[in-house]
Amino acid sequence: MKVENMILRRITRVQKSNVIFYSTKQAQKGKLYSNTIFLPKTRFPQRLENHKLVERDESIHSAADFENLYTWQRSHLSEPEFVLHDGPPYANGQAHMGHAINKILKDAILRCHIIKGNKVHFIPGWDCHGLPIELKAISDNKDLDPIKIRKKARQFAEKTIKDQMQAFKSWGVMGDWKNSYQTFNKDYVKTQFRIFHKLYEKNLVYRDIKPIHWSPSSRTALAEAELEYNENHKSPSAYVRFQISHFPKIANVDGKRLYAIIWTTTPWTLPANNAVCYNENLSYIIVKKTNSSDSSLYIIAADLLSNISAVLNSNFEVVQEIKGAMLAGARYIHPIYSNQECTFVNSSHAVANKGTGLVHSAGSHGPEDFLVSLNYKLPLVDLVDDTGCYNSHAGDNLKGKFVLTEGNKEVQAMLKENLLHLGEITHSYPYDWRTKEPVIIKASQQWFIDTDALRNRAIESLESVAIIPNDRSDIYRRNLVSQIQKRPYWCISRQRKWGVPIPVLYDEHSEKIIDEHTINHHCNLLRTYGPDFWWILSEKELLPDKLHSCYNSDTLTRSQDIMDIWFDSGISWARVLEGSKIADVYLEGADQFNGWFQSSLLTSVAMRDKAPYKTIYVHGFAVDENGVKMSKSLGNVVNPSDIIKGNKKQKPYGIDVLRWWVTCHANQDSLANVSHTTLKSCAEELNKIRNVLRFALGSLSDYEVSEDDYKNLLLIDKYMLHLLHKFHMQTSEYLESYQFHRISTAVLNLLTNSVSALYYTSIKDRLYCDAVGSTARKAAQYTLYNVFEIITQTVAPMVPHLVEEMYQYYNLKDNKTYFTSTHIKPQSDWENRDLDEIMNVILNCKKEVNKTLGSNTADKDLKMAVCAKVFKSLQDFGAIKDIEQQVAHIIQVGSVTISKEDFTDDHNKLFSLEISDSSRFCCPRCRKVQSDKDDELCKRCFEVVNSSNFTENKTAVSN
Ligand SMILES: [Zn+2]
Repeated sequence: MKVENMILRRITRVQKSNVIFYSTKQAQKGKLYSNTIFLPKTRFPQRLENHKLVERDESIHSAADFENLYTWQRSHLSEPEFVLHDGPPYANGQAHMGHAINKILKDAILRCHIIKGNKVHFIPGWDCHGLPIELKAISDNKDLDPIKIRKKARQFAEKTIKDQMQAFKSWGVMGDWKNSYQTFNKDYVKTQFRIFHKLYEKNLVYRDIKPIHWSPSSRTALAEAELEYNENHKSPSAYVRFQISHFPKIANVDGKRLYAIIWTTTPWTLPANNAVCYNENLSYIIVKKTNSSDSSLYIIAADLLSNISAVLNSNFEVVQEIKGAMLAGARYIHPIYSNQECTFVNSSHAVANKGTGLVHSAGSHGPEDFLVSLNYKLPLVDLVDDTGCYNSHAGDNLKGKFVLTEGNKEVQAMLKENLLHLGEITHSYPYDWRTKEPVIIKASQQWFIDTDALRNRAIESLESVAIIPNDRSDIYRRNLVSQIQKRPYWCISRQRKWGVPIPVLYDEHSEKIIDEHTINHHCNLLRTYGPDFWWILSEKELLPDKLHSCYNSDTLTRSQDIMDIWFDSGISWARVLEGSKIADVYLEGADQFNGWFQSSLLTSVAMRDKAPYKTIYVHGFAVDENGVKMSKSLGNVVNPSDIIKGNKKQKPYGIDVLRWWVTCHANQDSLANVSHTTLKSCAEELNKIRNVLRFALGSLSDYEVSEDDYKNLLLIDKYMLHLLHKFHMQTSEYLESYQFHRISTAVLNLLTNSVSALYYTSIKDRLYCDAVGSTARKAAQYTLYNVFEIITQTVAPMVPHLVEEMYQYYNLKDNKTYFTSTHIKPQSDWENRDLDEIMNVILNCKKEVNKTLGSNTADKDLKMAVCAKVFKSLQDFGAIKDIEQQVAHIIQVGSVTISKEDFTDDHNKLFSLEISDSSRFCCPRCRKVQSDKDDELCKRCFEVVNSSNFTENKTAVSN
């Protein structure tokens, strides 16, 4: 094949893909000139699909050196440093969509700051301890000793961390991976020991017996954050009477039996009953059943009479009304153990909106009950063991029975006729988040953080914290504050093996041994033996030499508790944020208001008296295409790796489609659907970006940036820069609150409407047909250069692979990779509001012309009469004759003449149009209807083709 033919074939193909307006008249000599046209020239592929996309991702990862970007920016970029503190994912299971959303959003934010030239601080981490991993470690052998359990658990967590880290890196997520923090590492545990000790010294950590949420199924205490509430839990609903044995202030009972009625949904707590609470401010009534052989008297709250009548299916007559205060000093016979007598006590938590207004209290089994016991110095009765069964103190009938099942039943039987009514209630009840089994509240010796003492400071410190998204900010803040307000203490001890030991020894009187010497000693042992030292060494070895003379090491015991994993991860700021540094952003899902956002706040306030973050950013959750939460059992799980690399059923989308989906769809605190329809449209959107920027890339292949070109911009170039300026201001504002979904919409709008449809169409004639090096062509290239720069820096944080790929084909680059290059900012004088008015008129004219003629407008001449104001503005942009030609290119007609007119009939009128057939002919080279004779070159094309430069340029095109 002849070389010339090859050139023609190629040019024809490219012309089709870059359709501009052509005359309908076929120019006979067209083919002759087709190789004199300067079409965009780039080898950057128009489309990448399937395995090529996967190969591209992998090759970009190494070509753009994503692995070392973090280290590079630490030494090359300037202050202010931007600190994003990574919330540690749990080292359990493979990388899933939740991780993808979290890590990709973090990466996009970091890359935004890198593009702005600011160094970033991001040390990824993992949460490595806790029950799920421990359960996996003991799954095949329940009798393992602590060292073996810990070894298996560690191996499991290490493997998971390795796999997850590889996945996160493969998504293009940059960070200080080499120094990542892991809560089981020596350094981390050391930090935790020191913090525990400091808080102990400040009296913010203490040990006490308290009712806590206890999971019989995993035999450990649970924090509020580890509970899941089951809305459909069924409990017994029991009305029980307590016989009053002594009632010093109540008269007129006439020797009749008097009972208090209480209501409970936990009959199993009745054996531990140690008081009945009344409210001195409530009104109570003494009632008697009518039409019944039962002559007993009952006390209930006056307001609840009709409710209780209905439940007990009895009619009552009121014998006497009494004030709550009259129950002071009254005593009753214990409903299970009749040899015991207990007292009535006043408490404001006895209210008259449900139940009976009299409340059964068992100090071991409820937070309010516990406070009542504290106030009245009532002894706590502990009748339930760690497995949730009654212990021997509960008596032979109950001993060994699981409280929630057989225990409840046995108690009901033991109540006999004192059980007035037994029903069932469906209500919200706490479950263990891991085992999905119900929990109970029981008294236990545990370690606590005194959140009561931290409450006010924690709430105050939140005042300066921003919460994103803005529209939910107030709700989130209120919820967080109310949770902190409701939290009197935080139980931080757990009775398991896979965690950080609570570094405390006890002497023979159970007195705690913890001070600076013991902590220093434990930190040294930690360095030598690793965190297992607590289980490896003897008590004697755990005690520093200095203290050996003070204690008999044979009588010492070590703490059998480990720390709550929320305390582990809650102190991550201390390991990662050096000195008094505060993170700019903590970014996680909304569930972390119950977890990490809260635990980090409390520990940071306790240690440093300030919040660890300036901004909390809340992202969305991935759900399937029907909006249903993904779960293995439903089989609706979509894995990030399947989206990226494809599987048997579906072709690969590549990493950037996943990243685009995350940044566009999951960056707000809502549910994000992972459906193929959405992913497909994400892929199409990226192709749109690819193709629009590809045109700019190709058009810049023979360009060198010169600020002189800025002086020669035409009207449409200036307008393009004006729009770019506006776009940049708008997207920068969106970026302040990380509204990537708004940014992506703005990008697509700009590219589709302003860049592709308007700007490219208007400049194609200049680019293709003007002489290379002509000022008008260079002005368009200067503008395209800015379009490319501004758009790429907007999308690069979201789709770095695509942008790095383009950058490899960009001849104006200043470095090997995009993210290590410097990036321009729009100049303030790009903004020119007069252009909005003028272009509004021109674009309305274009609309009118297209309305009348469709798209066949090239062989028409246009007479445009404009009002004086618009005419004057046009003149400010250049000589009217030049402007006329420029407007002809924008409107895509043969020629335009512009005149000034006073619209006397309508002073608000801006323009009027007259369209006529052109008397000129189609130029066989540029195909504009601007030749004086048929089948002859127009003046411009004649000059270009016959210029001395041409031979040179022709070579450029055909290369
Ligand atoms: Zn021409």
